[in-house]
Amino acid sequence: MSRVAVIGAGAAGCFCAANLLENAAGKLAVSIFEAHPSPMEKLRITGGGRCNLTNDFGGIRSLKEAYPRGERLMGRLLKQFSNEDCCRWFESRGVPLVTQEDHCVFPASQDAADIVGVLEKGIRRATLHTGHAVKQIGADGSVDGQPFDHVVVTSGGAPKGLPMTAGLDLEWVLTVPSLFSLSVRDKALCERMGLVVQASVSLCGSPHKASGPLLITDWGLSGPAILRLSSYAARELAASSYKGEIAVNWMDAPEADIRARLEEIAVSQPRRQLSQARPLPERLWTLIMERAGLRSDIRWGELGSKGLRRLVSQLSNDRYAIDGRPRFRDEFVTAGGIALTNLVPNTVQSRKYPWLLFAGEVLDIDAITGGFNLQAAWSTGWAAAQSILKSL
Ligand SMILES: Cc1cc2nc3c(=O)[nH]c(=O)nc-3n(C[C@H](O)[C@H](O)[C@H](O)COP(=O)(O)OP(=O)(O)OC[C@H]3O[C@@H](n4cnc5c(N)ncnc54)[C@H](O)[C@@H]3O)c2cc1C
Repeated sequence: MSRVAVIGAGAAGCFCAANLLENAAGKLAVSIFEAHPSPMEKLRITGGGRCNLTNDFGGIRSLKEAYPRGERLMGRLLKQFSNEDCCRWFESRGVPLVTQEDHCVFPASQDAADIVGVLEKGIRRATLHTGHAVKQIGADGSVDGQPFDHVVVTSGGAPKGLPMTAGLDLEWVLTVPSLFSLSVRDKALCERMGLVVQASVSLCGSPHKASGPLLITDWGLSGPAILRLSSYAARELAASSYKGEIAVNWMDAPEADIRARLEEIAVSQPRRQLSQARPLPERLWTLIMERAGLRSDIRWGELGSKGLRRLVSQLSNDRYAIDGRPRFRDEFVTAGGIALTNLVPNTVQSRKYPWLLFAGEVLDIDAITGGFNLQAAWSTGWAAAQSILKSL
């Protein structure tokens, strides 16, 4: 009987354990250690309690767009266990899924408890040690002094490092938050809280940009476009202590297209005031006019080339100073973790300690929002299970 320790009863750990037990229950004994009083506490609240468990990958042009870190390993692991495999896995166990127009996949019930329920069933033959925060993995494969033949670390994002591996020779990539909103101290902007527009945003002085719905909040900017930018620029923003400048293109279009759109309004509706013929929602449009220094009662026909230039510039490159990131817990994942260079190529197995494997957010793999992070937990958890099953 092979003894397997899984450290962390989150998405990756429970998925790995369920696959081990389903395929070799008689050949191995699985012990799951979980620091919290019950397993999968985070999985229950994912996607606002609906659990966006994967994505159909139709809205991205390359894997790098979804996985700013770890895209090469994810490319290999997705060949072993893809988003489609994930859908089949859960559907064949009685959880119908739906794919939204935005490519995100949810349980048809819109209830994360259905996903948790399937995994709870899958791990029922494991020995679950809840309330046990593992302190040490020994170089001999022991976990807090208990001997094991395989140890799978699935302890999730670790903002302060991974003390349980202190006695092991493993490379660690410094962790920083990813997927967070940005504080912007601009009264006129924040007064427009609640507004959502399709926009593109970029971090000035960096190559990073992102587009998608942009939400104005009472503390600054949020929504998918900002979360995406925070993921792409996670390291630069951490290095600058979350200060810098953000450029907003309010129409998510090239400058020339914005100019053409405004010229068309000026030609077709010259007698209407700027405030009356608008390419954007009224509350946002008044902000743009204020920031461009234009009166809202000017007629489109009186705007002239200088006024038009100012409007185009304000719409395509509106700059705001970033003033930190909100301190409440809105970051969903950590970038960084166990360096992928520690692993046997294309696997999640340690080069130095063949009995040691890693899966989930503890690895230096993270993604933008949309179900890609949970897909990483499933694909890496699957790979860890297959690697152990092959060794039996
Ligand atoms: C609010 C929120 C919503 C999210 N929504 C989505 C979503 O809809 N779709 C998506 O793709 N991603 C989402 N994510 C991200 C996703 O939840 C994570 O990427 C995913 O849970 C990572 O899985 P994991 O198993 O690696 O880690 P986790 O799910 O974090 O599990 C790790 C487990 O290990 C335990 N642990 C840690 N240290 C020890 C120790 N020393 N000993 C024993 N146990 C330990 C922890 O208590 C935890 O239970 C969301 C994240 C948050 C915070």
